[in-house]
Amino acid sequence: MVDTHSLTDDQQLELLRLNSIMRRAVGHDGSKFKRELPNKESSCPCGSGQTFGKCCARLVDGKGPPISEQPYAPATREGLEVSRAALTQYRLWHRWHTQPFVQADPDAAAPMVRIDVDAMSDLVARLMGCYIKNGLSDFPLVLARLRDAIESKRWTQKLEYHRAFWMSFVEEKDDQALTILENLGDHREIDDPAILQLILELQSRSAGFAERVTLIQRIIVLSDSAAVKLRYSINLFLQYAAVGDDTEAISVLKSGIEKHRSHIPLDDVYGQHTLAKALSFLGSADNNPAFVEQSITILQELQSRPDWTPAGQAALLRDEAECFMELQNWDQADALIKRAHELDPIPYDQVLRAQSALGHRDYTLCLEVTKPEVWNEMPAANLFDLLEIRARCLVMSNRQDFMEETITALRAARPSEPSLKERADARIMEMLARLRGTEITRSSNKPRLFGRLLRPISEFLILEPSVFGFGVNVNAILSRMSDQKDRKE
Ligand SMILES: [Zn+2]
Repeated sequence: MVDTHSLTDDQQLELLRLNSIMRRAVGHDGSKFKRELPNKESSCPCGSGQTFGKCCARLVDGKGPPISEQPYAPATREGLEVSRAALTQYRLWHRWHTQPFVQADPDAAAPMVRIDVDAMSDLVARLMGCYIKNGLSDFPLVLARLRDAIESKRWTQKLEYHRAFWMSFVEEKDDQALTILENLGDHREIDDPAILQLILELQSRSAGFAERVTLIQRIIVLSDSAAVKLRYSINLFLQYAAVGDDTEAISVLKSGIEKHRSHIPLDDVYGQHTLAKALSFLGSADNNPAFVEQSITILQELQSRPDWTPAGQAALLRDEAECFMELQNWDQADALIKRAHELDPIPYDQVLRAQSALGHRDYTLCLEVTKPEVWNEMPAANLFDLLEIRARCLVMSNRQDFMEETITALRAARPSEPSLKERADARIMEMLARLRGTEITRSSNKPRLFGRLLRPISEFLILEPSVFGFGVNVNAILSRMSDQKDRKE
């Protein structure tokens, strides 16, 4: 019991108000808190379209172990059932515990509704993953059936967000996905950072620089996670760097790190990895080895933690290798690339090997690693980097013989995103100018900052530990899901 005498008048009034809401919500004897299960013949709250009796009843009747203790394997039938039941369970909790408060006092219940919306949205995301991994195509119908689960504008928006996500990733209709989100109204009035993040992803090809920057700034303000704020500070840095505003780029990244690093918990793997990437970007952009060294320390600490998959461990080793390249410690970088390749070989390793060979000024090896025979095996995202290293090697070693075919291939491999394409063009021009012995001053002064931009932003975030942490990082989820898709095929 609270000793009401120690409370201020305002606090006593608040307590009385809450008391009265409570009583109205649950009834004097708690009789309004009825924990009734749905009728077995009614449609299941998980949105599957089956009856409750045939769908989630078995898992939520309270007789078996709690759903949170059930094994969760998204690619299996059981995983799908557990995810459905978790949604049904939460929907019932909302009905039992939150709705009475909403009826008694909607304003006072608003924070509870918000918690329910966000939690159920995460469960919907997890369920979507199960639908994808089980090869089911009727998820949009599930979303339609969930429409009246919670009465709230935020819930309607969340469902539209998931529908847009499905449209973009599964049906590969980005335009339609964007239309869904645009129909939610002016995005300047949307305060859900997850939705803004998806809008940013979908708009990246069409939106202008100013629009992108505004959107990113709003995501940074609205998000309540320091790691997400920092990730979008990196994104902002990349946006400025891509248009050639190096000063502003460095300044936003620096202030992002200063503001957010102390708020990222040490046990937050995703956050610490984001911090390591931010520091290594800053070190390379600002020519400051101290930042790169801090990044290495964090990466090594992350590697010492248990439970990494070989792919996760290898990705950390590659990050570390890139840091050592930045410090021009090529031997150390070589060793790390080799270890990463042994754990989990990916085509990008070839790019790293080429980069290192060039660092060692071993032009013969560099040309061998980047020879035309490997071009076809290289994913589009890595080919430009590989060819660019080859072209630089040809320039540095004064070789004219392979130059033409390399430049032609380089042109063909430019990224399609307009600002990156522009940047790629500038680098090719720079290369040609050097080849002809003429100087281009502006861009050749700053090859480092540009040098890191052509790899997709997504690459530095594939380590995210929470597979379906929607709204944290769409790219990571996409790459995980496509990874899963590949394996299934
Ligand atoms: Zn169900």
